[in-house]
Amino acid sequence: MEIDRLENQTLVNKLVKTHQVSEQTLELYHSAINWYVNNHFDCQNPENFPSCQQSQKGYKASLKYENNQFYKGFVPCEHLVYQQNRQNFLNRFLLTDFDPLQQEQVFYKTNEQNLKFFALNYDDSKSQEIIQTRINSKEEFLLKQQVVAYYQDVLANKKRYGIYLWGSLGLGKTTLFRFLAIDAAKNHKKTIAFYSVSNLANLLKGSFNNHVESSKKILEQLQIADFLFLDDIGGEPASEWLRDDVLFTVLNYRMTHEKTTFFTSNFSIDRLRKNYQAKIGKTYPGSKEDNELKNERFIERINVLAKEIELIGTNHRIK
Ligand SMILES: [Zn+2]
Repeated sequence: MEIDRLENQTLVNKLVKTHQVSEQTLELYHSAINWYVNNHFDCQNPENFPSCQQSQKGYKASLKYENNQFYKGFVPCEHLVYQQNRQNFLNRFLLTDFDPLQQEQVFYKTNEQNLKFFALNYDDSKSQEIIQTRINSKEEFLLKQQVVAYYQDVLANKKRYGIYLWGSLGLGKTTLFRFLAIDAAKNHKKTIAFYSVSNLANLLKGSFNNHVESSKKILEQLQIADFLFLDDIGGEPASEWLRDDVLFTVLNYRMTHEKTTFFTSNFSIDRLRKNYQAKIGKTYPGSKEDNELKNERFIERINVLAKEIELIGTNHRIK
């Protein structure tokens, strides 16, 4: 790595000019300035940490001027900054059943491109060609576009609640929501919980048996995440425990605290209501009325928390 000493010298000259540094000070801190000029350089290819050429990997030489004094120091280089950003991004996923780093590259190379895709204008013939490489029908594209626009309204605080997106299998509902979750964590510093409800049930069952503490922690993460995505609700075996002790508890908290929640499902909310009531009714220990009441207040939370949108389109997986 060639150090551009001339460029470093130019930076020092600027510093001297801006702060009107005296000759005397320059002489006094001559060695610090020299050290900076000879050692400072920016790193290339920030995503490749092992390629870092700094003498102490991850840190680059810096020079600070304050109170008529020059200070030698080190600041994180481009590699370390990249790593820290990535770690912060991952840390914002409090609970997830997918890998946010892998998911990013499903459509395009970056998530920013994924979202730009949904900003295309269908009526423009060139855009339409691009859209049709991924989505067959205009209706499906416009509905997904509506979902993304709604999400952006939530970010802009124009809307508070989320979306209940339902439709037949293979329409890419989960993929679309993953794009949104990644964007929210990466570009808007939102904390995220994203889990399919059946995976969640298994996760909790495992932890309910062994560690009461960790199930508490899981419920807490589902409650406090800025954005919660409950994926494929209705795909799980309905149980009284899941409905009343898990989902109701979480959704009630989120409703009270006005937190944004998204759902995907193969069923409409009304169908979900009927399925839950019937399935749980078979084994419910209390009265029929009690089951109905609990079912209604559970569904009521979903209705309050999310706008229902039916996604219509053709199955992408069997194309
Ligand atoms: Zn570096």
